[in-house]
Amino acid sequence: MDKLYSPATVNKIMNKHHFKTSKKYGQNFLIDENIIHKIVDAVDIKDNDLVLEIGPGIGTLTAELAKRAGKVKAVEIDKKLVPILDENLAEFNNVETINEDILNTNINEMISNEEKYQSAKIIGNLPYYITTPIIMKILEEKVSVKSITIMVQKEVADRLKAGPGGKDYGALSVAVQYYCDVTFIAQVPRNVFIPKPNVDSSVIRLDVREIPSVKVDDEKVFFRMVKAGFSQRRKTLLNALSHFLNQPKEEIEKILIQSDIDPLRRAETLSLQDFAALSNNSIK
Ligand code: SAM
Repeated sequence: MDKLYSPATVNKIMNKHHFKTSKKYGQNFLIDENIIHKIVDAVDIKDNDLVLEIGPGIGTLTAELAKRAGKVKAVEIDKKLVPILDENLAEFNNVETINEDILNTNINEMISNEEKYQSAKIIGNLPYYITTPIIMKILEEKVSVKSITIMVQKEVADRLKAGPGGKDYGALSVAVQYYCDVTFIAQVPRNVFIPKPNVDSSVIRLDVREIPSVKVDDEKVFFRMVKAGFSQRRKTLLNALSHFLNQPKEEIEKILIQSDIDPLRRAETLSLQDFAALSNNSIK
């Protein structure tokens, strides 16, 4: 079978099936062999791994994953892609295509039903509109996966890996770095897709930690504190927290000082340790 990533093949497949890409589902198909290998290499797949692919499209990455993994489960929302996937992946007997919206899928169940595989790894060239919700769903539901390798809009990747002190650092950075170690894999120019998107992308791998990166007594309180801090980024912590948490400034000031944090600082200067100290002290 022709290489799925050649532009001529992608166009031939779409014409044959009268398939038109949909903006709504963020359909931009990869056509660059180097990038495809870079992504699949980064997943570090063993032959007894279960790989869950989000949004297989016409199966370009899926075929490469299937060559290396024990099994690939590919969740695709667009039912028009199902016959295309069936045809393009017919030579593999270790691929299961599931026609569902990943945001409504019970990912934990999908993985625990396949207990004979050593570890589960998630991969996806994600449509921009589901990037943050899907990352947060996987992390908050504590899906038991080893890693999540994703291609996302460059700006989102910058936020995922940002440390304190800059404009990219925010609630998403803190949440992801609480659960995962973040590794930047590659920059991806917009001209390696059909159709060409309006933005550049980056590939990032999130290695899910066995224990979170900081010790937090109550995760709910921690995430509420992070949300409160970043709710009004330009305000001082004292003002932002007191406003969002609806608590008197004297109370907030006491907790900040106990946590060794100057009340006049802004949330974007706080490390994960600072947020942990702040939330732990607020419930003492
Ligand atoms: N993996 C293919 C590639 O790299 O060429 C396609 C990537 S394309 C950027 C995103 C894919 O995700 C599309 O096939 C789209 O239909 C699918 N998709 C969009 N929203 C989805 C959702 N909520 N659940 C599952 N798949 C989704």
